[in-house]
Amino acid sequence: MVFAYAYDMTTNASLINNGIAAILAKNNVHVSVSIDGLPSGNDAIRKTKNKTDSSFIEIEKGINCLIDNGVNVDFSSVLSSKNYNQYDESFIDYAKSKGVTSIVVILSFMDDSLKPQAVATPEEISEKLFRLYVYGKNHGILVNGYWYNPIARLLSTEVNDKHNTYLEFHDTCTATGFQLNVEPSGDIFACRATSLRLGEINDFDSVFSRPEYSWTVMRTYNNVKACAGCEIEGFCQGVCIGHVEQKYNNDIYNIDPDYCNVYRSITSKILFHALAKQRER
Ligand code: SF4
Repeated sequence: MVFAYAYDMTTNASLINNGIAAILAKNNVHVSVSIDGLPSGNDAIRKTKNKTDSSFIEIEKGINCLIDNGVNVDFSSVLSSKNYNQYDESFIDYAKSKGVTSIVVILSFMDDSLKPQAVATPEEISEKLFRLYVYGKNHGILVNGYWYNPIARLLSTEVNDKHNTYLEFHDTCTATGFQLNVEPSGDIFACRATSLRLGEINDFDSVFSRPEYSWTVMRTYNNVKACAGCEIEGFCQGVCIGHVEQKYNNDIYNIDPDYCNVYRSITSKILFHALAKQRER
């Protein structure tokens, strides 16, 4: 059997230099740069060590260095209460100017005060994501995130990532699907956001027979009672399990209605948009 492999890296790009960028380009590493909008939005949440300089300037230097060295770059943003009002279509224009074709927009979770729901209703958040999605689409940029997974799955079983096209095989939350996180200590978790230890690297094979592993990966479609009857049941598997674990005292078989309302709303908006576009053809 031949295994395909590919390298991805997520970075805020602040330590990227020509030497590093050249190695990334040589090994065809796809780099996702964490950047939370233009300076007014990004710098509201991403502080430099001295808390006064603009981290945007540092990130942009890194982006330019990556691009100049021929590295394939996409953006990844966190939409939070801090940058909610500043994050808009102008950031998509900026991404386009850099040749970026995909922006992942993650809704902040874990800390209630940082959630976008602290400053906007689920419907307002859905409306904003929809506007960004349509604007991006019209400019050749896929604006996506966990909130996009239900509609992507509903419209197609084919996934086009940066490296390949393949049939959908994983769950909404990567931690319950195909992902393992190995810490420098050798401890293994499903994700950096979860605290349930699945085992350790020196006894790797035993991870898959441990109850902790089953508990994590079986938190899937139809196994979360609260999802029964939801209009996107079967296409959505809930939000980040690290968030749910923290919110419900380690019980990951739960949902967070704050995000469910966004997911349901954005799914229906994009679906009706796609149908309207199809009718126009
Ligand atoms: S109830 Fe929430 S987590 Fe479950 S399918 Fe619906 S939107 Fe997704």
